[in-house]
Amino acid sequence: MNTKRLSVISLALSTVLMGSVTQIQAASGDDITVYSSRKEHLIQPLFEQFTKQTGIEVNYLTGSGGDLIERLKLEGSNTPADMFMTVDAGDLWYAGTQNIFQSVNTETIKSNIPSYLRDPKGLWTGLSVRARTIVYSKERVNPSQLSTYSNLASSNWNKKLCLRTSKKIYTKSLVASIIHNQGEEKASQVISGWVNNLAAVPNAKDSHVMNAIIAGQCDVGLVNTYYYGQLIEKTPDAPVKLFWANQETTGVHVNVSGAGVTKHASNPSGATQLLEWLSSAEAQAIYGSLNKEYPANQNIDSDEIVSSWGSFTQDKMNLSIAGILQADAVKLMQRLGYK
Ligand code: FE
Repeated sequence: MNTKRLSVISLALSTVLMGSVTQIQAASGDDITVYSSRKEHLIQPLFEQFTKQTGIEVNYLTGSGGDLIERLKLEGSNTPADMFMTVDAGDLWYAGTQNIFQSVNTETIKSNIPSYLRDPKGLWTGLSVRARTIVYSKERVNPSQLSTYSNLASSNWNKKLCLRTSKKIYTKSLVASIIHNQGEEKASQVISGWVNNLAAVPNAKDSHVMNAIIAGQCDVGLVNTYYYGQLIEKTPDAPVKLFWANQETTGVHVNVSGAGVTKHASNPSGATQLLEWLSSAEAQAIYGSLNKEYPANQNIDSDEIVSSWGSFTQDKMNLSIAGILQADAVKLMQRLGYK
């Protein structure tokens, strides 16, 4: 039994005790082990397809992104993980600063995934795109009143705005993009306008933002579009609609879920092969249909339901900036009372 096999088994035992393991098996030489904060039902179909095509088994362990990063740091060179997968560029960037990734810059990945969705040093690669945009009440808002994220700070929306908490990484990344695109001073005006316009304390979840609009508590909000997809799937006649923000200016703020090959991978070539496959048209189509996100590979079309929401221009800010400006975004929101 080699070191890797031992460490995977002990990992499985310890995580079963912690209750955070969903599935992990002992690895053999060619297998790949993935730590993922992306949920099991969103990754398992992809890994199964990869195994079917390559014969390479993929073992995985799911948990919170923060816990898995800490685990990777503690395990160091003994880690069984060959790949770390998580959501939001802010968290991918943070993982990059913790020295747990190695650089991967293959031609396949570079041609499949546009550079703004990848780490400039190749530490991580975006694999699915989530758009964070405006959602509004079909009953009380005329979309001609809507335009930009900044416009939601105008007094027209006084007591009509619902937002997700500033603690959520999605909010931090969006505010980081506003700082990048408009500068700190303008960003301060936007955030203080948002805070003034709030109809209620910030919500814990994007779904709560939409429920509050449906309940008449507020008229407009900001959400990742896959939450809108989940709502519409359950309640097709829900009286809310998406509006593509910043189409005359910087484009809709997009973010990614993504992955990187770990620094101490014992199967770096297998993990790189998996990363390349995940960026391929075939895997990207599976990604899109599982969670109603947008493909990161721009050569393929979105899922049918997602396409029905219309096309839009994306903000092409390199997503590593969402991480670099994350601390500034947090400070700014704290200073202006965005809870
Ligand atoms: Fe989410």
